[in-house]
Amino acid sequence: MFLERLSILIDSLLGFGYYLRMAKIVLGVCAHPDDLEFGCGGSIAKWVSEGATAYFLVLTDGSKGSEDPNITPEELKVIRRSEQEEAAKILGVKENFFLDYIDGELENNLELRKKIVRVIRQIKPDVVITMDPSFLYDAKMGFINHPDHRACGQATLDAIFPFARNAKTFPELLEEGLFSHNVKEVLLVNFQNMNYFVDITDEMETKLEAILAHKSQVDNPEEIQGFMRKAGKMLGKKINVEYAEGFVKINPN
Ligand SMILES: [Zn+2]
Repeated sequence: MFLERLSILIDSLLGFGYYLRMAKIVLGVCAHPDDLEFGCGGSIAKWVSEGATAYFLVLTDGSKGSEDPNITPEELKVIRRSEQEEAAKILGVKENFFLDYIDGELENNLELRKKIVRVIRQIKPDVVITMDPSFLYDAKMGFINHPDHRACGQATLDAIFPFARNAKTFPELLEEGLFSHNVKEVLLVNFQNMNYFVDITDEMETKLEAILAHKSQVDNPEEIQGFMRKAGKMLGKKINVEYAEGFVKINPN
């Protein structure tokens, strides 16, 4: 407890997360294989290199993520799982959890929340990264957010608060030895209202490599790399570094 308080004090005095990040447990929760590589791949690689242990929880099977008429959803599911394993390995992620909901059919319901709570109570993350459920569209970018992304973000936020920390919710998990857990930091992937930036200059190439490991999703590697470099540079300007990732950061009380 003393060390934790000291770490928080040092963190607040220095104004950045380096000391608090050391040896943290980080959980990324996403809707589809590849979401986390795009949204926070650089930050994950950075924190792992600093001693953190990272886990990914992928909620759907990604079986609808192709317009190729020659690939069946069943085949795509197998391909995407192996691409996810490969990408996570590149970032240094310790383990992927797969819930295998059907791509495009994710709903924030009691069953999904319980499954997310189970993983949170198993690995006891200090930090959870997920998708911002309030991000519906961006008219300027001509972007409509995928409903699975919103369901993922909402279910994960609900799981963090109040259900993972509330011992009376899901009493059957107590019987599995999974006790309540408070997540101290939540980072939401969004393209708007970001209030927290991570310097990923040294991890940009690793992030790109992890994204390109999702071969079934990459038609034009040069184009994707160019786009991601441009986006990373734009965010980097916010903290005067070459490349950055940005999040909405919440520290739940
Ligand atoms: Zn997605």
